[in-house]
Amino acid sequence: MLSEEETEEIKKKITSHIETNFPPEQILSARSQIESMNSEQLEKFLEKNNIMMSDEKKDECVFCAIASGKIGSVKIGENEKAIAVLDINPISKGHSMVIPFEHNDVAPKEAMSLAEKISKEIKKKFSPKNVEFSKSKLFGHEVINILPVYKDEDFNSEKSHASMEELEKIKEELEKEEKEEEENSREQNFKGKFTKETDKVSFEEEKFLWLPKRIP
Ligand SMILES: [Zn+2]
Repeated sequence: MLSEEETEEIKKKITSHIETNFPPEQILSARSQIESMNSEQLEKFLEKNNIMMSDEKKDECVFCAIASGKIGSVKIGENEKAIAVLDINPISKGHSMVIPFEHNDVAPKEAMSLAEKISKEIKKKFSPKNVEFSKSKLFGHEVINILPVYKDEDFNSEKSHASMEELEKIKEELEKEEKEEEENSREQNFKGKFTKETDKVSFEEEKFLWLPKRIP
């Protein structure tokens, strides 16, 4: 069943198709025919005429295309419900977007937790004054925008265009820290395991082997 919003969107598309493709004398009656339909009638009309509006809509949806990998993007995080990618038209360094896999006009709560995780990583690595979130949607697919604020940027600030190479570099900077963090936590675990006096010898040995690897 089509939602009210979808019905309106589809009607708009069909109407503009009619206006550009139909002979002038038929436009008015065809338009009023479409406009008078309720969502049930519209759905039947689409079926009868073999118009696959909902599929077409999903194919057109840029967020679905990014989430499924049809459109290339620089991914900086993922969980079971959403992915996080760097915005191709960033306002500031680290400007990114969480896209739920599912085409839905309400982002699941898991999308917000991914946005918060990304925000923490950005704060740690790039030290912005603040990180702002905003939800937006296109064709009924809601996403969460993540904007690091260094000076006085907001979501209406001027956008730049980043190349894939530039975005890959930012991703590297973000993930470099993750590796360091992992090493630190490995070291923490390691120390935790060898706190007993009797283990001191093996701790020293391990430490000796361990440290040179950390020198670049
Ligand atoms: Zn979508």
